[in-house]
Amino acid sequence: MTTTTTTKARGGFSLRDVTKTYGTGEATVHALRGVDLEVPPGELVVVLGPSGSGKTTLLNVLGGIESADGGRISAAGEELTGRAPARLAGFRRDHVGFVFQFFNLIPTLTARENVELIVELTGRGTRERVPELLEAVGLSDRADHFPAQLSGGQQQRVAIARALVTDPDLVLADEPTGALDTRTGRTILDLLQRAAREGRTVLMVTHNASVADMADRVVTMHDGRVESVDRNERPVDAADVSW
Ligand code: ADP
Ligand code: MG
Repeated sequence: MTTTTTTKARGGFSLRDVTKTYGTGEATVHALRGVDLEVPPGELVVVLGPSGSGKTTLLNVLGGIESADGGRISAAGEELTGRAPARLAGFRRDHVGFVFQFFNLIPTLTARENVELIVELTGRGTRERVPELLEAVGLSDRADHFPAQLSGGQQQRVAIARALVTDPDLVLADEPTGALDTRTGRTILDLLQRAAREGRTVLMVTHNASVADMADRVVTMHDGRVESVDRNERPVDAADVSW
């Protein structure tokens, strides 16, 4: 996939004793209870853990969608700790691409326009690169289709093109294959693995333990904490992941 001009590894991150609480009083939920995690640039990290263990919250605070309540977070060479929302937005724009379970495309825009919109909103990337990105995800012939005219897997591929058009250091994917069948899901895993092999740091949450086989590092979350971190010495190709 020719989606980047650099293969230099970049975008590692570090979390130290990160906490995040939702609600107040009796409704308080401790979503993150002191998360420590350090990942060097260019790794593909798979995050596993039961529902409610804090995986999405971890992605959101790392990506600057939400601010943490305590602890320290640095990512892609920037310190996020204590940043005001406007400065978190700047961090997201400059460094992060997001991929969500249900694609989150804008239904009234074509595939091409969904990707172009991000170029306009962020001022990063160029409209000229959009066809190149759609080709890289195998969708050149669907560029002028609307989301409703695309399969789930095709919509997720548009979402990956959209995530990569700003040339992010960090790609955060929350259950990106959760709504897809196995064969289609494997295509998405392959695109995310390529993004990491190009030097981006990719963090992917999944329910599917066998996806861990393709990761450089496997993080298991439990009850708002990192329960284990395992280095995978021989990650398999996404094409060979079975589930
Ligand atoms: P996971 O992605 O592992 O399923 P989450 O990070 O979504 O877990 O959630 C962790 C905990 O925080 C859960 O108990 C969840 O109900 C709670 N939670 C997440 N987001 C919110 C929110 N916006 N408001 C209140 N509670 C939340
Ligand atoms: Mg979640």
